Amino acid sequence: MPIQTINPYNNQLVKSFDALTEKELEQKIAKAHQAYLSWRNESIETRAALLHEVSAIMLRKNKELAKLITLEMGKLIAQSESEIEMCASVYKYYADNAAEFLKDKPLETTDGSAFIRYTPTGIILGVEPWNFPFNQVGRLAAPNIVAGNVMMVKHASNVPQCAAMIETIFRDAGAPEGIYTNLFLPGEKIAALAADDRITGMSLTGSEKAGSSLAEAAGKNLKKSVLELGGSDAFIILDDADIDLAVAKAVLGRFNNMGQSCTSSKRIIAVASVAEEFLEKFTSKISGLKVGDPMDPTTKIGPMVSEEAAQKITRQVNDTVKDGARIVVGGKRIDREGAFYEFTILTDIPKGSVAYKEELFGPVASFYKVKDIEEAISLANDTGFGLGGSVFSKDTDKAIEVASRIDTGMVFINQNVASRPDLPFGGTKRSGYGRELSPLGIEEFVNKKVIRLP
Ligand code: NDP
Repeated sequence: MPIQTINPYNNQLVKSFDALTEKELEQKIAKAHQAYLSWRNESIETRAALLHEVSAIMLRKNKELAKLITLEMGKLIAQSESEIEMCASVYKYYADNAAEFLKDKPLETTDGSAFIRYTPTGIILGVEPWNFPFNQVGRLAAPNIVAGNVMMVKHASNVPQCAAMIETIFRDAGAPEGIYTNLFLPGEKIAALAADDRITGMSLTGSEKAGSSLAEAAGKNLKKSVLELGGSDAFIILDDADIDLAVAKAVLGRFNNMGQSCTSSKRIIAVASVAEEFLEKFTSKISGLKVGDPMDPTTKIGPMVSEEAAQKITRQVNDTVKDGARIVVGGKRIDREGAFYEFTILTDIPKGSVAYKEELFGPVASFYKVKDIEEAISLANDTGFGLGGSVFSKDTDKAIEVASRIDTGMVFINQNVASRPDLPFGGTKRSGYGRELSPLGIEEFVNKKVIRLP
């Protein structure tokens, strides 16, 4: 992918950037390694102070940063501003809590004593996606930098200005050179970096294809890796659910960020007794919304990330309809320039069709009517993905029972799945492995060293 900003609102090229040469890349790795050798010895208070400053700068520059997101990937401006706030809260969360998370952990032994000390390991290489260009980076950078690691980030090629801005924010916050390094590189250059001894861990958020390429290279070089990949989350509505609440959360869960989130509520599964009422209200909530410029705060439907993404979702919907599905609403490109696609609901989706099997990374909800809870759980689990899910019911025990039988890393009850600093985020099956955020996120790339005393 060329490294460039293309505004998806009008598909115009805004700015291009050159990829690093081999020599420049080596210089950056050497600087990052030098920075690590000092940073690992800094106190946790010093490292936390840097994150506090990063967080403060993000909040101060919220409007400017939000505009960059919207320019490069088309997110509605209010959602871009929310992303910046969320991201600032992630830096603050780790700044506030890292000392507690990383304090020595005493171990029970039959004789003598022992404890675990959490020590940094080196350069962590992050490969990040465009869908939350600041927040996805923050989730990896905040815990690692406060733990004494340093970060090198290869960001998605279509958000280069966001990528460069994150490095600028770290510099402005007073980070020594090499603590956070932006790498303008194509994806194909990443696997080879796994062989570099100075890089001690690798993490990727994105597609299965990119994830498996990174994991293969990491495995071959005996490096720890974390993968946050796609999802096809089930959103289950039981017969005693609050339907109006479920409708409101489904609209948010499926259409926020133009449906381009790994934890979007992609498959909506309602038991028969409430299915019609839900579908009718859900359809009416997404009809007649204002389409337009994502920079305009009154716009409700903006562009998808790119022309390619809009073409892909068009193909997926058309193929699913050919397979026998029915369009309830939407189902086509919006007739204007830019990467626009209608808010869409599909139903009567045959098993084995494109929408049944594949992740729909766009504003398209797959709606399924099932006869009972058992069928809902079985359908929810009939996917290769295992990221998140939601269950709607007024009976908490019943909802927890259903949640425990869904094969995913996260299930939210009476809510759509959302990323929060204090909750672990990650999946099972083809959605990846490892966790970001919460105390678990800071443990991924630190050495849990045992120190044994007589
Ligand atoms: P990609 O996986 O292609 O991109 C994500 C990141 O991986 C980018 O930085 C990309 O760089 C990089 N990359 C691509 N190929 C490789 C490789 N071989 N080795 C190392 N890094 C690589 O995702 P897309 O943007 O193409 O989106 C496609 C699908 O990915 C979506 O439909 C969705 O299923 C999933 N996805 C999931 C996300 C999530 O939040 N979990 C976020 C985004 C996408 P470059 O941009 O230079 O290609």
